[in-house]
Amino acid sequence: MPRSTDRLPSPYRPESDTVAQRLATLQGALDWAAAAQMAAPWVQAVRRNPPPFWAMESLLKEYPISSAEGLALMRLAEALLRVPDTATAIALTADQLGRANFDGSEDSTLASLSSSAIALSKHLLPEQGQTPGLLTQLGARTVVAATLRAVQLLGRQFVLGQTIEAGLKEAASAHKANKQLRFSFDMLGEGARTEADAQRYLDSYQDAIAAIAAKAPAQGHPADKDGISIKLSALHPRYEDAQHARVMVELVPRVWALCEAAAQANLNLTIDAEEVERLELSLDVFDALLQQVVQHHPQWVGFGLALQAYQTRAVELIEHVVALARRYGVRVMCRLVKGAYWDAEIKRSQELGLVGYPVFTHKHHTDVSYLACARVLLDANDVMFAQFATHNAGTIAAILQLAARVVSTAETALPGAPQFELQRLHGMGEGVYREVLKNPLVRCRVYAPVGAHRDLLAYLVRRLLENGANSSFVHQLADESVGMDALLTSPLRLEPSSPLPLPVNLYGDQRANSQGLDLAVVAQRAPLLQAYAALIQSGGVPHVPLAQEADAAPAVQRAVAAFGPWNHTPVAERAAVLRRAANAMQARLPQLCALMVAEAHKTWGDTVAEVREAVDFLRFYANDAERVMAPHTLPGPTGESNTLRLEGRGAWVCISPWNFPLAIFVGQVAAALVTGNTVLAKPAEQTPAVAREAVNLLHAAGVPADALQLLHGPGETVGAALVAVPQVAGVVFTGSTQVAKIIQLALAQKDGPMVPLIAETGGINAMLVDSTALPEQVADAVVQSAFRSAGQRCSALRLLCLQDEVADTMIEMVRGAAQALVVGPAAELATDVGPLIDREAYDNIERHVQGLKNEATNLMPNTPPTATDAAPHTLQPQMFEVQSVADVKAEIFGPVLQVVRYKGEPMGMMEHINRLGYGLTLGIQTRIDSRAQALAAAARVGNVYVNRNMIGAVVGVQPFGGEGLSGSGPKAGGPHYLLRFCAEQTLTINTTAAGGNVALFSQ
Ligand SMILES: Cc1cc2nc3c(=O)[nH]c(=O)nc-3n(C[C@H](O)[C@H](O)[C@H](O)COP(=O)(O)OP(=O)(O)OC[C@H]3O[C@@H](n4cnc5c(N)ncnc54)[C@H](O)[C@@H]3O)c2cc1C
Repeated sequence: MPRSTDRLPSPYRPESDTVAQRLATLQGALDWAAAAQMAAPWVQAVRRNPPPFWAMESLLKEYPISSAEGLALMRLAEALLRVPDTATAIALTADQLGRANFDGSEDSTLASLSSSAIALSKHLLPEQGQTPGLLTQLGARTVVAATLRAVQLLGRQFVLGQTIEAGLKEAASAHKANKQLRFSFDMLGEGARTEADAQRYLDSYQDAIAAIAAKAPAQGHPADKDGISIKLSALHPRYEDAQHARVMVELVPRVWALCEAAAQANLNLTIDAEEVERLELSLDVFDALLQQVVQHHPQWVGFGLALQAYQTRAVELIEHVVALARRYGVRVMCRLVKGAYWDAEIKRSQELGLVGYPVFTHKHHTDVSYLACARVLLDANDVMFAQFATHNAGTIAAILQLAARVVSTAETALPGAPQFELQRLHGMGEGVYREVLKNPLVRCRVYAPVGAHRDLLAYLVRRLLENGANSSFVHQLADESVGMDALLTSPLRLEPSSPLPLPVNLYGDQRANSQGLDLAVVAQRAPLLQAYAALIQSGGVPHVPLAQEADAAPAVQRAVAAFGPWNHTPVAERAAVLRRAANAMQARLPQLCALMVAEAHKTWGDTVAEVREAVDFLRFYANDAERVMAPHTLPGPTGESNTLRLEGRGAWVCISPWNFPLAIFVGQVAAALVTGNTVLAKPAEQTPAVAREAVNLLHAAGVPADALQLLHGPGETVGAALVAVPQVAGVVFTGSTQVAKIIQLALAQKDGPMVPLIAETGGINAMLVDSTALPEQVADAVVQSAFRSAGQRCSALRLLCLQDEVADTMIEMVRGAAQALVVGPAAELATDVGPLIDREAYDNIERHVQGLKNEATNLMPNTPPTATDAAPHTLQPQMFEVQSVADVKAEIFGPVLQVVRYKGEPMGMMEHINRLGYGLTLGIQTRIDSRAQALAAAARVGNVYVNRNMIGAVVGVQPFGGEGLSGSGPKAGGPHYLLRFCAEQTLTINTTAAGGNVALFSQ
């Protein structure tokens, strides 16, 4: 169904074009020199006479967020207050304070409190890993208590009160002191992961609106009263574009209930702006709500939303909202912010390999955009009430200048109907606004967070970043070394190039990054859905003829015959073939994704990541082959040359699994081919069509037909027959440990040369979580690692180890997040957990689940029954608690998670995990950096991930593969992989054989 947001331009457009357009709209409309002149006295006054909360700014000036000390402060502020047990609190404090140097702090309040705590810590805190004695413990508790107080101070700066009643009281006294002030209360909490959290946040918004309404005057414009700000991500656990239909049905009524309450009291209710990936969805929700406003409360003029100027399409977003307001004939409030998620937006684009960034990459481009947006907003003041949220003195002065052109200041005068207002965050920009508000015609609304510390953290970190970032105005204002000219320099200029590489150029000159798609953008996912429809229309997954056992030997003979010419092809040419194949694969991304959805039942997001991985393998191995296969000149005595050369070994058998039918298949084949080998590729029985498509692409790119042959058939027959052929020069296998052992035995027993086996197998992968970890982050990481891809990844999380003190909270949140997942057919965009690969896999996992139901505690007993007709072989996520690590007997290759509790330090658990004998992936969730390092060092595991999920290794970034029962190494996508495919030769030439040592004489 078309959405009104379909007409919005792409967020990924060239930055310079956009900024040039924005600058053009400001030409003649804004005199920056005059704005700077207006702002300069404010800055001077603030620097001369800092506001009471200045401690924060000066602390962060002294310890910028980029320094070890700033980072330590941020870590402590983020984590310390949620740690329930003293031992871990001591360990965290020792770890963070120990790595920083706070000596010589000049600040009198917060800094000195921290300094004394830190000075104490040097003497009192135990070394990491040591058990503190009684005296040390007593001292450590004192340090922790002092640090806690410092951290609470940090938090308190940004929170108006713990409850709405306390917040209203503070607001009332602030209002009494300055009549130009209004408040917008923000009930802390965002990013609900569970339905229970969403309900809790909804209740707190409801209570807050009732409390604000009770204190507000019955009459009057919403601009004259305190209001509320809400975050949609707090109100639904799956507020994502992929869940559009469900969000419209479930979230809209919730928000409407809040709107009704605000409308009845004629208050301002603003929907905060969050991540760009939720933008279209938020506008659709807003649109639906506006329609209800028109129908039920047409007189309400307090409904509004925040829009972020750092978005490249910010102006079009405002135009979109203006158009909606005009279409429905309502007045809307619009808070213009610059945006608080800049670093996260940049990271997301790079991770997903998107075509560009949805946000500007120069700070002053954001400022230009802000002013251009302000113009559009002010010009639409017949339907829009503009709310300018900024702490930047230059921006404020420029806004006042722009506003004066549209709205005469007389019209803004109190108590008549206001035309616009300024806004700031509680705890920020107080000094500047103290000066700005000396003009009695200006009004300011303070965004005032209210709530308990447990809900503050995400907000607090954004504020610390904002105060601590060098680019930020408030940070520069506090830094007297930044002169007035620099502070108020004109942003009205265009930078022709970005300081950040585009995601495609992430690897610099080495290789192009594979390109992904933003599935949250309708236009970007459309090609996938079209490709799927075309595939189904053409009859579905194409048939691939089966090979017979008898085909194996002749195929190997052909591969052996093809080896010579291919091996003698210069490595640069073989690399060029791979690069051509990579480009072709990138171009066919939608078709390949569609085929994987249909044949391997993978979800859309997984398929896009998989095509990217295959493309990365091709490019990475192309480069790496040129690197490792370049002849090495070796040192030696004069009169002799010594060279080491690498070449292919012969015909390789590549046996790949169904869970990564493209990426692992292509990775194995590409590595073998580029090093000069020929290949007999045996894909998983379940996914031959994807493999054939890859082979076709490689042939079309220039791989000779006999150098790469596809043999589709069962492993026990065709696979075994291939492995048994004596001329086979090597085997690369990804699959179960059990089959790897069978292959190893077969290779050892057969006649012929001794050949290498590269085996990548599974694992009982664990995640260790201590009480410093953030439950929301843990829930995300666990759900993604254990349940996404229906748990059918060898890297998937199987065993979650939770510190006893936080185990119940963590289990509750993981369970709630798992229950919010959508289990269903792979082709549906909303599906998170698709079907298992086939009936056999399903039955096998069901057997394990039945066993666990008898032996362990079922943590999700109310899970509905599994497969449905619409989605056969689907299994709901399952969680069981076991008593000890040793109770986990086998890798269950599905969405089944086992949980175990531990007491004390997690290091003891690491020993138990190592004892399982597997060693593929490990997750660690802790804010104690030294603990993470120590655990990683103790882990006999190939890939360790700290404070994130533990799946989705990126080629060349996280080389992938394990040890012990999990594989032989070397790691795929790493710098040592290709070597195993090569034979080595040294060539020694006596250069004096012809009579004398010319080189020596001519030195
Ligand atoms: C009342 C109020 C409500 C708010 N509500 C929201 C909200 O709903 N959603 C939201 O996201 N934010 C919100 N914010 C936060 C707001 O985005 C930040 O406080 C704001 O960006 C700070 O802007 P400034 O003009 O005070 O500071 P400045 O220092 O002038 O500007 C900081 C801005 O520049 C951006 N920036 C920094 N480096 C670069 C770069 N290299 N390239 C491009 N841009 C860069 C930052 O991301 C930030 O947006 C709100 C703020 C206020 C005051």
